[in-house]
Parts: sequence; structure tokens; C-alpha cells
Amino acid sequence: MEAIKLKIVCAWCNKDMGTKDGQGVSGISHGICPECYSKMDMPKRQCLRCGHEWEPRTPKPIQCPKCHSPYWQTARKEIISETS
Ligand SMILES: [Zn+2]
Ligand SMILES: [Zn+2]
Repeated sequence: MEAIKLKIVCAWCNKDMGTKDGQGVSGISHGICPECYSKMDMPKRQCLRCGHEWEPRTPKPIQCPKCHSPYWQTARKEIISETS
């Protein structure tokens, strides 16, 4: 019996990047190949919490690498639930 594989294709150049275990799901998953990644010029990001600037490794960083805040895109005053 053959395991169901998910095909991985570069979303930028459509290069075949192989397969991975689809865990019961077959189809195509998009990723980014090393060539496109190195060509890609990611804009610098700045954390609105600590002011740290960095070059992200992903288009949408989930947290600031310095203060580790997941709300780095949101200024502190806009977070209503966060009161001290
Ligand atoms: Zn590519
Ligand atoms: Zn930060």
C-alpha cells in the first residue's frame, strides 16, 4: 500500500520540490524553493512594541525575534485586553 503524498511546488517558479506525507490528503502544497528564497527581497520589519528592526525569514513573521511579542505589528495602546 502506498502512502498518500502531498506534492510540494514552489509558489514562485513552480519548481517541483518533491513530496511529503499528506497524512491522508493528496494534492499540491505550495512552498518556496531556496533559489526563489534567496532572490526574494523581504522588506525590513519593525516591531511596534520594542522598536527592533529585522529582516524576516518569512513574509509574515508571527512574532518579534527580540521581544517575542506576537503583537509586534500592533502598538501597545491598541490592545484593549492588555491592561496592567
Ligand atoms: Zn522557486
Ligand atoms: Zn519587539
